[in-house]
Amino acid sequence: MICNFCHSAVVGRYTQWQEGTVSCQACQATLPACRGCGLPVRQRKVGWLKRVFSGQAKSAPVCERCNASAVRCSACDDPIVESYTQEVDGGRRFCAACSGSADQCDFCAVPVAKGAHRYSDGRRSCAVCRATAIAKLKQARPLIADARSFLTGRLQMPLRPESECEVKLVSARQLAKRLGKQFRSSPGYDHREKGLFTSNVSQRRQGDTVISETCDLAIYVETGLPRIECYGVLVHEFVHLWQFDAFPRHDVDRQLVEGLAEWARHRALMEMGATTSARRVERNDDPIYGGGFRLVRDLEGRYGYRDMVRMVTERARDGQRGR
Ligand SMILES: [Zn+2]
Ligand SMILES: [Zn+2]
Ligand SMILES: [Zn+2]
Ligand SMILES: [Zn+2]
Ligand SMILES: [Zn+2]
Repeated sequence: MICNFCHSAVVGRYTQWQEGTVSCQACQATLPACRGCGLPVRQRKVGWLKRVFSGQAKSAPVCERCNASAVRCSACDDPIVESYTQEVDGGRRFCAACSGSADQCDFCAVPVAKGAHRYSDGRRSCAVCRATAIAKLKQARPLIADARSFLTGRLQMPLRPESECEVKLVSARQLAKRLGKQFRSSPGYDHREKGLFTSNVSQRRQGDTVISETCDLAIYVETGLPRIECYGVLVHEFVHLWQFDAFPRHDVDRQLVEGLAEWARHRALMEMGATTSARRVERNDDPIYGGGFRLVRDLEGRYGYRDMVRMVTERARDGQRGR
């Protein structure tokens, strides 16, 4: 009998594996065992071994058979042969090492491997988010057009022309700075605002009368957002552009302002079939954003879209608190 690993004649004890594979005692003792089925793993395929170890400090490699049939970890691409897996909304699975890791994608919060893409401001991105990342204004143009027509058409919120409110893509660091905050990246998911609408109004007055008004309006969106997230942020910020003319500019209940913007984002995401992103809007436990969304959704459920918008706008004008 010949050992399938060292190709020498077997002397003494041996082990017979599936499909008639035979390993001698010496190979059994020296070769690493597959962590799926225990089969000795040949070491001459150095490249492949390197890949299965892939710096994840795994105790053992996986044989070719287990490797071919195993589910791959969505973070490190290693075969998952242990029972330990984790599934998230999108159906992605993660090996035990990655599931236990503190490193998370800063866009969808799933575990990411050490080699995941890292932006210069420290944000980390999983491969899925990275695949549709909007890094340049040119890539954002169709999304801007879609977001604007969703609001003006579907939601009947007229908007000032694009030339009066430009969209700018900025890093998380620059965006935080505009909000008077500081962005510091951590291994886990970093909670932060990903969009911002700003307005600077200067008026020329004669007594109490406003003769002319200059509005300096802009929308800032974080660069690198996955396409669908970028679209959601744009819808949200364009609602603020509409509110700039439809709502009072001072002392407005923020829950109504953000709630309506979040409701529009949620509706836009649902219509795009982006349920995972829409669920994140629903589950936001922030009282202003999540609470505002639920307040507006209740009004819409009870009175319909047109009356909901009318009520939210009136309440904003009255400066009343919601409900
Ligand atoms: Zn052998
Ligand atoms: Zn195996
Ligand atoms: Zn993994
Ligand atoms: Zn991601
Ligand atoms: Zn907002």
